[in-house]
Amino acid sequence: MQAFIGLGSNLDRPAQRLTSALQAIARLPGLTLQHHSRLYASAPIGPQDQPDYVNAVAEVHSSLTPHALLHSLQALELAAGRQRLRHWGERTLDLDILLFGNQCIDTTDLQIPHPQMIQRAFVLHPLLEIAPHCHLPDGTTLGSFLSQVTEQALLPLAELDRDALIERENPHRTD
Ligand code: ADP
Ligand code: MG
Repeated sequence: MQAFIGLGSNLDRPAQRLTSALQAIARLPGLTLQHHSRLYASAPIGPQDQPDYVNAVAEVHSSLTPHALLHSLQALELAAGRQRLRHWGERTLDLDILLFGNQCIDTTDLQIPHPQMIQRAFVLHPLLEIAPHCHLPDGTTLGSFLSQVTEQALLPLAELDRDALIERENPHRTD
């Protein structure tokens, strides 16, 4: 099944974290990483006294069930040292299942489509970058929600900026 995963981080070298998370997703049993977006910088939603986020979206082919995928992603969050400090607060790694084929799931621990995805520029833009015709299970195209998120600051990290960021985050890198 085709699925989309939203990635976010705003602590502890976020750009590098997202790059590592994409590699970790690619290595998960039962998943094939098909595409991923560029990295984007976004202003925080929720508490404003926290650093900007880096976000991206990955498209995978999953032979895992949605719940098995959720548990695999939660294991990656934990491995990244994630602590849940406060609601919508800072985090080292957030991995959300945005869409899973055309399935609609509404259980206590898993809602798909992800309930907030259509309200967030940092989900819509990277998702549409890799899947321009992407739609919700009911057929509504995701592009139709873009006009509602124009106020949310979002900036693709240019290759140069990203290298500079990774360099700043890891000054002793030798490659
Ligand atoms: P958020 O991503 O909204 O900032 P968290 O990452 O702290 O919040 O997630 C809280 C809970 O959301 C998780 O324990 C998980 O069970 C639940 N959840 C519900 N739907 C999803 C989904 N589609 N993807 C990931 N987690 C989800
Ligand atoms: Mg989450």
